Amino acid sequence: RVGFVGTGIMGAAMARNLAKAGYSVTAWNRTRSKATVLENDGIRVADSLSDVARDAAVIITMVTDTPDVIDVVEGPEGLTAAMASGATLIDMSTISPKATKELAGRLAARGIAMLDAPVSGGSWGAQQGTLAIMVGGDPEVFETCKPVFEAMGQKITLVGSNGMGQLTKLVNQVLVAGTAATVAEALVFAAAHGANLSQTIEAVAGGASGSWQLANLGPRMVQGDFAPGFMVKLQQKDLRLVIESAQDKNVPLAVTSIARELFTDLESRGMGEEGTQAIIKSIEKRAGIEARQSVPSNNDAEK
Ligand code: NAP
Repeated sequence: RVGFVGTGIMGAAMARNLAKAGYSVTAWNRTRSKATVLENDGIRVADSLSDVARDAAVIITMVTDTPDVIDVVEGPEGLTAAMASGATLIDMSTISPKATKELAGRLAARGIAMLDAPVSGGSWGAQQGTLAIMVGGDPEVFETCKPVFEAMGQKITLVGSNGMGQLTKLVNQVLVAGTAATVAEALVFAAAHGANLSQTIEAVAGGASGSWQLANLGPRMVQGDFAPGFMVKLQQKDLRLVIESAQDKNVPLAVTSIARELFTDLESRGMGEEGTQAIIKSIEKRAGIEARQSVPSNNDAEK
């Protein structure tokens, strides 16, 4: 029995994969309509968080930010009110490593084990069950929960104690933000010289510059497909968490800071809910060219 809290872009797909793997899943979402669509997949929709917590050996949270996790777990009508001692909470949202460690300590005092298990791989990885999952927590609890993770992901790594899963996810976000900015910059540079961007991506993707960002977001940038995926505003939330953690240790983050500025430019122009591939629009603005229109997009070619 698995309880699932937060059936947004990521959570809905992850809950579906748990049900597909044979788990009895009860889901709750603040906006109920986003949970009821899962009933066709054999998922029961709960009326309250305590309804989710009752009888569930494992409860997964997949909400937005640190205060949201604290609210659904420890709020006045939160999960802990009904969670049985001996149950495990797995938080798969991306939140603060420090707050995670503190929350795990408070839950342990109530006999509730916690794993922080943020993910990478985008909504496509969530749908296909191929997420990378980075886990912090007790090794025995991790082993017990491994089959649950295997229903949602492929590369599942225990990286240390509570908080280290979140810290590793922030490392991932440093890599992802800088790479997205570089992919966009490279495409604008290529476009300025009249290169065919689809061919350019194909030519370089198999070499030393190949990356998930180039292979998955590059074509979307070229086609002008800015649907999320991973929203700009969520990446900004993650980069705020990165910068807070960097300041704790006085680590300079030059490249990440530039990527953050580019995303801030998008947010200030009302594009916070677009996918992170929209970063190319910020680079285009600075370069004074529209890379997307310099070659026929796939859609144009079909017309
Ligand atoms: P999303 O579609 O916006 O979903 C967020 C979910 O959290 C929604 O179900 C929302 O409920 C719920 N929520 C937020 N605040 C809440 C609160 N205070 N109380 C109760 N429920 C609350 O976002 P997402 O893309 O699925 O992202 C979820 C998490 O995964 C985030 O931490 C994100 O950083 C991380 N992540 C996302 C991706 C990606 O590619 N999208 C990849 C890796 C990690 P409502 O429906 O009522 O708003």
